[in-house]
Amino acid sequence: MHKDIATPARTKEILDKYGFSFKKSLGQNFLIDPNILEKITGYAELDEKSGAIEIGPGIGALTEHLARKAGKVVAFEIDQRLLPVLEDTLSPYDNVTVIHSDILEADVADVISREFAGMERVAVVANLPYYVTTPILMKLLESRLPIDSMTVMMQKEVADRISASPSTKEYGSLSIAIQYYTEAETVMTVPKTVFMPQPNVASAVVRLKMRKEPPVRVEDEAFLFKVTRGSFVQRRKTILNNLQASMPDGKKRKDEIASALEAAGIDPGRRGETLTLEEFGRLADSLYPSFG
Ligand code: SAM
Repeated sequence: MHKDIATPARTKEILDKYGFSFKKSLGQNFLIDPNILEKITGYAELDEKSGAIEIGPGIGALTEHLARKAGKVVAFEIDQRLLPVLEDTLSPYDNVTVIHSDILEADVADVISREFAGMERVAVVANLPYYVTTPILMKLLESRLPIDSMTVMMQKEVADRISASPSTKEYGSLSIAIQYYTEAETVMTVPKTVFMPQPNVASAVVRLKMRKEPPVRVEDEAFLFKVTRGSFVQRRKTILNNLQASMPDGKKRKDEIASALEAAGIDPGRRGETLTLEEFGRLADSLYPSFG
């Protein structure tokens, strides 16, 4: 086995060799601890029949651990300066493809069908750039890619919101959006000392297992998310107040909203943060004929 990229000494050596300077605006905090990488790739449950998609390989710290465990790895990197570095650091591995692209612009479904033919499963594994965590996750989920799981490092505060339960202060429209598509679990919190440079915020790894079926069946998914977002506009207000403010002409149509809440069996005096996903599903369907 080759010497790990993710040690402080080897990382410094690579950065020096290429005169690389970190771009904070691209969320560049590289991992320098092989034990953490072993754990992350362990949670991803990879084997030679698995394809792995990485977002933001950096200098290849996580990529090489993926290359050792998965059958094939495809990594999307936005920063052109890292391409020659990756070509060098990943040269011992013949099962890695690096694509120079912003993940938000990439046709990931097409890449999966081209690169992972014959693989039994595909997993996303990444130490995400924190400035775009939510857009990346939502893009991958909304495009309903043929993937099994996502094991991703992010800011701990976002991880807490993603895996939150109702009636906690972290629970909100992000928890609902992610939990609609996946079973979400924070599997590990990670100290700042395993990064170079160290981020200003605490980090955590979340494992998202894609659901085969949505946990609630609704008339219109986009409308469900509109209702959930609208229910959290002002957290301290009641669901009735928030829906009046967020539904079209809601102020004038208070009675219609109140009847929809009643039909869904939801007390209009409750706060959005107390509603389960199932209750939001019932509420969305009850509001849909008038507001959808
Ligand atoms: N995987 C490496 C590691 O763990 O050491 C680097 C992780 S670093 C937190 C995030 C990486 O994502 C950087 O390499 C950065 O250049 C890249 N990146 C930032 N925005 C991106 C985007 N929109 N699409 C693809 N890569 C991006």
